[in-house]
Amino acid sequence: MLTAVEKILFILAIVASLGLAQHFFRQAFAVIRRGEGSLAFDQLPGRVWRALDVLITQRTVFRARAATSLLHGFVVWGFLYYVLINIGDSLEGLFELNFLGDGPIGDLYRVAGDVLSVLILIGMVYFLIRRFVARAPALSIRENVTLHPRALPGIRRDSLIVGLFILIHVGARFVGESFQIARHTGDIWQPFATALAGLWDGLDGDTLEIAEHVAWWLAIGTILAFIPYFPFSKHMHLFMGPLNYFTRPDRASPGALAPLDFEDEEREQFGAARIEHLGQTQIFDAFACIMCNRCQDACPAYVTGKELSPAALEINKRYEIRGHMRPLAAGEPSPAPLLDFAISPSAVWACTACGACIEICPVGNEPMFDVLDIRRDLVLTQGDFPAELQGAFRGMENAANPWGMGESRLAWAEGLDVPTVEEAADYEILYWVGCAGAFEPRAQAVARALVKVLQAAGVRFAVLGEAEMCTGDTARRAGNEYLFYEMARANIETLNAAHPPRILVTCPHCLHTLGKEYPQFGGVYNVVHHTEYLQELMASGRLRVHAAQKAHVTFHDPCYLGRHNSVYDAPRYALGAAGVAVTEMGRTRNDSFCCGAGGAQFWKEEEHGAARVSVTRYAEAAATGAPTLATGCPFCLRMFADASQEETAAHGPEVRDVAEIIAAQLGLEG
Ligand code: SF4
Ligand code: SF4
Repeated sequence: MLTAVEKILFILAIVASLGLAQHFFRQAFAVIRRGEGSLAFDQLPGRVWRALDVLITQRTVFRARAATSLLHGFVVWGFLYYVLINIGDSLEGLFELNFLGDGPIGDLYRVAGDVLSVLILIGMVYFLIRRFVARAPALSIRENVTLHPRALPGIRRDSLIVGLFILIHVGARFVGESFQIARHTGDIWQPFATALAGLWDGLDGDTLEIAEHVAWWLAIGTILAFIPYFPFSKHMHLFMGPLNYFTRPDRASPGALAPLDFEDEEREQFGAARIEHLGQTQIFDAFACIMCNRCQDACPAYVTGKELSPAALEINKRYEIRGHMRPLAAGEPSPAPLLDFAISPSAVWACTACGACIEICPVGNEPMFDVLDIRRDLVLTQGDFPAELQGAFRGMENAANPWGMGESRLAWAEGLDVPTVEEAADYEILYWVGCAGAFEPRAQAVARALVKVLQAAGVRFAVLGEAEMCTGDTARRAGNEYLFYEMARANIETLNAAHPPRILVTCPHCLHTLGKEYPQFGGVYNVVHHTEYLQELMASGRLRVHAAQKAHVTFHDPCYLGRHNSVYDAPRYALGAAGVAVTEMGRTRNDSFCCGAGGAQFWKEEEHGAARVSVTRYAEAAATGAPTLATGCPFCLRMFADASQEETAAHGPEVRDVAEIIAAQLGLEG
């Protein structure tokens, strides 16, 4: 119990600490509100549940780095419990009471506090050793990546402050309990503190009481001093991580972009040139970032030596905001464009829009959208983008396909009975061939194989033929939202007139764009990928495969089939049902590694780096020993087919689409 003077000092310290903290938190939220759009607060119960779920279970953290995640869990769970401990200790300091008493609840309270204190201390010592002694490579960022000048010293200083704060706060409280136990007769509900109390055997009661008093002030004093520092520290992720899950928009898929409003005549800025042009949720990301670099480990551009690190992007945003918090909060323009401090132009154009950074981030950050918003600014506002993309844009504008091919979209179907919607009025499914299926030779072979399988199963299908146009996916991922908007409107008009009962696609990019992004423009369709449809046909007995020979493949999950559309089991089921054994690669399903084509990369030269993304992934497939690399995307197919021609790839697997493999198992090839 504190003296009267101490009580007054303590209350003044609480008021000062909370007053300063609310001032700085208000500043942080004022900066967030500078962004475009708004944070999402609809469907509150679901949002609250999602935030509590990630906070308490730490399941998003446990997706990678198991040992580090467990130790991080110790610190988080312990720190949450310390909210209760700090309330209890404060009340005990102010009033003559024993918080929660000596009954079963009090016993439980003390044993949990004792165990969690030790776990926090173990965790914190681990994290300090990892950063300052072992200098874990996972915590560094390569030199060719743009890094804010304040970031490196700032992260080290902040990590040290946070580490020491936790060690002192929790350590002082734990030692203080041991002093109290030494004054009495031990406490079986605090076994660790009781063990420590054995060290104080020679001290008299008065000394122990003073020591306990000092420890109380040290424990409470450090938390009161630290609370206003939270908004400047990466430790803020403790709140901002769950709040990020709470406030982020519900997207139709993890990669579904929000449309731009081209009807708004006042608008001069399209996309993001400066921090305040980013969405509020994207500015929020900077405050939520743990700076753990997990997104960087998963990023195909970073892994292959490009200038892009999604982690650096978030860290750079954070340090720029930190350096200009007050003027930014007051509404002043940000001092520098994003390309000056957050990311280099080469990094912007290295992103494959694979979504791996979004998938892995433990606090729900979405760095990919920053990159794509910066592309929008470069294409729509500045007219500054890689020259090769101009060819794809022009092809889409003039010939409705990025290849710019003027031929018939039905040439691939020559010799096959492929009816158009006008010729097959009672069709059950519309086969959306896609530009690759229509014009790219390998994808044309896949389209032909699929049609033979559909015919074998007696499926009544039809195609749009010449009326089909590119979905505009490439334009959208490349930042040319206006071209995408035009293509989407034209296709939606065609599709709404045709009114297809279902749409079948062989391209995951078509699957994503038609199914997840066209609803933003009034086109709502039931779209299915061919691997899903093959699974359906097999499961229902419409397609029976009695394969004479067993086959063996490894399956590459295309990013826009897996991560962006959650289709993982269907291709494996279809292959398995056709007598094909699948050996998984190390990075598989939602951890799959991009082929390097997405994000409009297919239409431009790969940015400079240490290796090609496609070759890196192809080597992973070759390492499985499977004679065939199966996939379900025409762009993956082309990238890996090219990678297989590299000298280093000699004797690698043959690259085939699932539809081709099943057609072969049915004896329908050729
Ligand atoms: S979307 Fe993929 S390539 Fe782009 S930043 Fe994220 S992980 Fe890297
Ligand atoms: S964006 Fe997410 S994964 Fe990347 S460093 Fe920040 S917290 Fe870690």
